[in-house]
Amino acid sequence: MTITANGREYRLPVEPTVVFTVDGGDPEYFADALTRGIMPRLAGMLDEGGEYRIGASEMPSLTNPNNLSIVTGAPPALHGVPGNYCRLEDGSLQLLNDPKFLRCPSIHAVLEQAGVPTLMVTTKEKLRRLLGNGGVPSVSVELAAEHGLPEYGIGDLQDLVGRPAPGIYDWDASHYAMRIGIAAFRACPRLRLLYISLTDRVQHAVAPGEELSDRFFTEFDTLLGEYLDAGFVVGITADHGMNAKHKPDGSPNVHYLLDILDAASVPVHEVVLPITDPYVKHHGALGSFAWIHVDDEHRDTARAVIAALPGIEEVWTRADAITVYEHPADRIGDLAVTAAADIALGRRAADHDLSGLHGALRSHGGRHEQPVPLITSRPVHGPLADRYHANVLRSRDIHDLVLNHVGAASEPIGRAESVAATGNRGR
Ligand code: ZN
Ligand code: ZN
Repeated sequence: MTITANGREYRLPVEPTVVFTVDGGDPEYFADALTRGIMPRLAGMLDEGGEYRIGASEMPSLTNPNNLSIVTGAPPALHGVPGNYCRLEDGSLQLLNDPKFLRCPSIHAVLEQAGVPTLMVTTKEKLRRLLGNGGVPSVSVELAAEHGLPEYGIGDLQDLVGRPAPGIYDWDASHYAMRIGIAAFRACPRLRLLYISLTDRVQHAVAPGEELSDRFFTEFDTLLGEYLDAGFVVGITADHGMNAKHKPDGSPNVHYLLDILDAASVPVHEVVLPITDPYVKHHGALGSFAWIHVDDEHRDTARAVIAALPGIEEVWTRADAITVYEHPADRIGDLAVTAAADIALGRRAADHDLSGLHGALRSHGGRHEQPVPLITSRPVHGPLADRYHANVLRSRDIHDLVLNHVGAASEPIGRAESVAATGNRGR
């Protein structure tokens, strides 16, 4: 039996299925961890038929647009959230955290309405409100003390997990989201589709191989093992990657676009940084993507000034960005700017308080954080297999992969076409 969500067909899950979105889970972290043997359960999963390929996240490579694309299977043009933050047509600046901004339902909401027991667990409350839209039972680590899951007969989340919830900036806040998911399943084994969205606090702070990163991925691996042992079909992806954006002396490597446009006497309405969110300690609102709102008569001048800066990679007009990035026209700027992997874009230097940053600036938002892992616990077969194996799928295809294109033991589809792609970890 299948349902249709946003023009794509999904099979109702027979087995318990979980998708993990590792916030800022750049493929480098996984490659490094597998090479050094610190993720034995993931390695075992891949050796036993699971597969690891690379796919692309949405642009800008930010949390909200990508979590929404992953749970809807649709681009930002359809779900309506091209950033964490934007300037609307009336000139107001808005954090895109409110479900009123959503323009299509999630796969989970459609499945839930079809009678499939679903669960969303986020680390950040801002995401829970978006992802839980449409009647999906949802909880966040940030408000674990206040949440229950009455739909599933669960009163107190901290009692369920058996330990108090960490703070949102604690290194193991993400793991608590994973603990909530597996504990909820044990309490309510009829759950069939879980979506667990982590936070990138650790990835903003440390590179692959650093002690805190190892601790994060070791713990992730242990908890992944609990899901595998419980019989879950597993999909793992990321909302975006992560890159260092600082100079050798540790200071942030930033073009402050409003300062630069002022110095060139180009009048603009606003420079909008769509990475902006309430969690400023992660990145100080500095990423590698910006929108410039400017009148038509000054647009080409602004474009020329910005394009001439070192490390600017793309400057698209609104009309082009709609197609290139699959963006909704009414929630983006007149110019869309991306920067090189090691360069961040700011508004005015005076606007950015970097005193709360955890160490030197590591961030995301541009093209260089688009590659993300697409990992499944079973061999991929069927119509998506060729594109999956060629590393050209998108993170928004992960639910299509785990619901439709991996072998489900109790309800096989096209098992005959399944290829023996065991142990593949290729990039
Ligand atoms: Zn993110
Ligand atoms: Zn981030």
